[in-house]
Amino acid sequence: MTAEMTGIGVGPGVAAGPVARLAAPPEPPADTGPEADPAATLQRIKAALESVASDLDERAARASGPAKDVLFAQSMMPRDPALADRIAKALSDGRSGPHAVAEAFASFRASLEAAGGYLAERAADLDDLRDRAVAELLGLPMPGLPDPGRPFVLVARDLAPADTAGLDPERVLAVVTQEGGPTSHTAILAKSMGLPAVVACAEAASLGDGTEVLVDGRGGIVTVEPDAQTTERAMSSESRRREALASSRGPGRTADGTGVQLLVNLGSQADLTAAAETDSEGVGLFRTEFLFLDRATAPTVEEQTEAYAAVFAAFAGRKVVVRTLDAGADKPLAFVDHGAEPNPALGVRGIRLARRHPGMLDDQLTAVSAAAARNEAEIWVMAPMVATPAEAADFAALCRSHGLAMAGTMIEVPAAALRAGRVLEVCDFASIGTNDLGQYTLAADRMNGELAELLDPWQPALLELVGLTAEAGRELDKPVGVCGEAASDPLLACVLVGLGVTSLSMAPSAVPAVRAELASRTLAECVELAGAVMACGDAAEARRAVA
Ligand code: PEP
Ligand code: MG
Repeated sequence: MTAEMTGIGVGPGVAAGPVARLAAPPEPPADTGPEADPAATLQRIKAALESVASDLDERAARASGPAKDVLFAQSMMPRDPALADRIAKALSDGRSGPHAVAEAFASFRASLEAAGGYLAERAADLDDLRDRAVAELLGLPMPGLPDPGRPFVLVARDLAPADTAGLDPERVLAVVTQEGGPTSHTAILAKSMGLPAVVACAEAASLGDGTEVLVDGRGGIVTVEPDAQTTERAMSSESRRREALASSRGPGRTADGTGVQLLVNLGSQADLTAAAETDSEGVGLFRTEFLFLDRATAPTVEEQTEAYAAVFAAFAGRKVVVRTLDAGADKPLAFVDHGAEPNPALGVRGIRLARRHPGMLDDQLTAVSAAAARNEAEIWVMAPMVATPAEAADFAALCRSHGLAMAGTMIEVPAAALRAGRVLEVCDFASIGTNDLGQYTLAADRMNGELAELLDPWQPALLELVGLTAEAGRELDKPVGVCGEAASDPLLACVLVGLGVTSLSMAPSAVPAVRAELASRTLAECVELAGAVMACGDAAEARRAVA
C-alpha cells in the first residue's frame, strides 16, 4: 500500500527503486569464556571466514577496474592461514569463539600497521572483514554497503562520510537516512554525487530490503510502494527539469547584470570530472580532507602534490579555492591524532590542528604551492575554523612564505563573523561556511537530525552574521563568498547576494538552478528579499516571506 514518509530533502531530483539497507556493524563480542568444543568452534569460524571470502569473490567477479583488484585482494585476507592460526591460539587460550575472531583480527591489524607502507594502508580493511566474519558467525545481518546485484535505494540509520564517498553512483539510485542533518557531511557528499537524498527520515526505520520506493530529494518525501503512474509522472517531470536546467549557461549575474561568481564545491577525486564539466567559474571550496578519508597513513608531500595537480589541471584557466585540511569532529582522519575529546565539534579541529601538528599544514602548503607552479589555474588558499584575527594573520603569513598570494579565511565561527573587519584586514578574502556557522550560532550539532529546524540555513541569526561579514568585505573591498550549503538553495542564494556576498559555491548539480533564479532578479530585488528575511523571527517565517 502506498504511504509517504517525510524527512529533509538534500540531494536534487527524484529516483525510484528497491530498498537495500546498510546494516550497522555488530557490537564488539565480549569474551564469555572457553568453548565446550574448541575444535568444532574453529570449524564453524573457518566456514564463516570462507563465506565472507567467497562473497568478496562474487563481488569482485561483478566489479571492474581497480575495485575488482581491491575486492580480490580483500578476499585473500579471511583465507590467510596465519589468521586461522591466531584464532586457534585464542580459542586454546580459553577465549569464546566470536571474541577469538575479533582478537585475532586485532593482532593481524597491528602486524600490518607495524609493517608500514601499502600493508598499513590495508589495515583498515580488516575492521570491515572482522565485522563481516562476526556477523556471519552470529547469524546477524551483514554490515557494510549492500550489494543486491541491481541498482538500489540505500537506506541506513546514518552513513559515515567514508561510506558515502565509497558509493557507486551507477548502482546507488538515491540515499535515505533515518538520522543526520541537512548540512552533515554525508548529505553534502550525496549532493555532490548528484544523488537524490532524504535525511532525518525517522520512519525509514521500517523500510525493509526489496521494498519499492520513490525518493524525492527536493521535497524530502519517500513514497513507499508507489503506483506505476505516480512513478512515471515523477520521473518524466524529473527529466523535464534536468533538460530545462541543462540549457542554462554562462557566468552568474543578476537580471540587471551584477556579476556573482558561481563556483563548485569539490570533495572526492571521483567528483572531479563532473565538477570540471560543470559550467562554472571554478572551485569555491576544495575540501582536501575528503581525498584522504580512507588513508591509514598521512599522504606524503609528493602524493598530495599529485592529487592537487590533478584538480588544478582539470580547472586550468579557472579559479580553485583550496581549503586546508579540515579534519576532526565528524571528519576524523585515521592518520591524525585527534585524541579523546568530550566535545569534538568544539575541539581541536580545522586550523586548530595545526597547533598540534604544525608539520601537516606546512606539508600541505608545500604541496599546494608545488602543484600550483605546474598548472595554469588561479590558486587561492583558505583555512577552516578560524576564530580570531590573529589566527587569520598567522595563516596568511604562512601562505605567503610558501609563495601563495591569495590567502583567505573561512568564516564558520561566530567570533570571526562578528569581527570580520579585523579578520579581513589581515587576509585577502573570506568564504562563509554557513554549515558550521549555523551549527555554532544556533548551538545545534549539524549531525543531529532532531535539530534540523535550528540548522536551517534560513535562520535569520545566521543570515545576520553573513550580512555583517559581507559588509566588512565591501568596506575593505575584499571578496566575501558563501561556500556552505546555503548557496545551493536558489532562493536563499538571491538573499545572500542581497546581503552583499560576491560569490556562491555549491554542489555542481545545484549550479544551473541557482544561475536561473539569480538571472530572474535585479540586485535591488535581492536586497529587498534580504531585508524581508532580516525582519523575520525564524527560519520558517523567512522562507515564507521570500516564497
Ligand atoms: C561549512 O561549514 O559551511 C563548510 C563549507 O565547510 P564543511 O561543510 O566542509 O565543514
Ligand atoms: Mg565547515
